[in-house]
Amino acid sequence: MTVVTLAARTGRSVRLDAGGAVTIVNLFGQQVVDTWAIDVADPSIVLSMAHTRMANGRLAVGAGDTLVGSDREPMLVVESDTTGGRHDTLIPACDAARYRQLGASGHHASCAANFTETVRALALPLPSQVPQPLNLFMNVPVGPDGTLGIEPPVSRPGDRVTLRAVRPLVLVLSACPQDLAPTNGSHHEPRDVELHLLPALDEALP
Ligand SMILES: [Zn+2]
Repeated sequence: MTVVTLAARTGRSVRLDAGGAVTIVNLFGQQVVDTWAIDVADPSIVLSMAHTRMANGRLAVGAGDTLVGSDREPMLVVESDTTGGRHDTLIPACDAARYRQLGASGHHASCAANFTETVRALALPLPSQVPQPLNLFMNVPVGPDGTLGIEPPVSRPGDRVTLRAVRPLVLVLSACPQDLAPTNGSHHEPRDVELHLLPALDEALP
């Protein structure tokens, strides 16, 4: 197992072969991790929250659920999840416009910019707009009347999610830099996250 740090406010990529997996470890408990996947064979195919909600018949995702691409085919499986499935599939990545709306002046790091910079560094084609990410650990309660909230995550230090790739793909992950809303906790302080890279199951056998 290889352990790498996803530093607070930054993005990075992880290349997964079919059968490979990554465990995203929420070291401090309340850090949201925006997560995208891009098909290596056809980079025009990306992880799609709309198609994933349709495939699973639910708003949220949790252990045992399949995450599907814009081609409606499986990209990843949520192999394990200690949060009980408290993740968001509805909210777009934070971006410069969102921070302007929140009153920021000048540059502010964002998940959208982290995605764009990471994809550009890989020399992969950039989608015309940033795909809607799977927002791991993000707490977006949905009221009976359909209202949405953005509340501090309920995940605890050490909570973790393992995503196993169904096909070769690039994961792009962003430790959300949001510090003007309680997205990453009421302390408004983005934190580091740990990534555990796991080999394919057959490679892990003795
Ligand atoms: Zn963000």
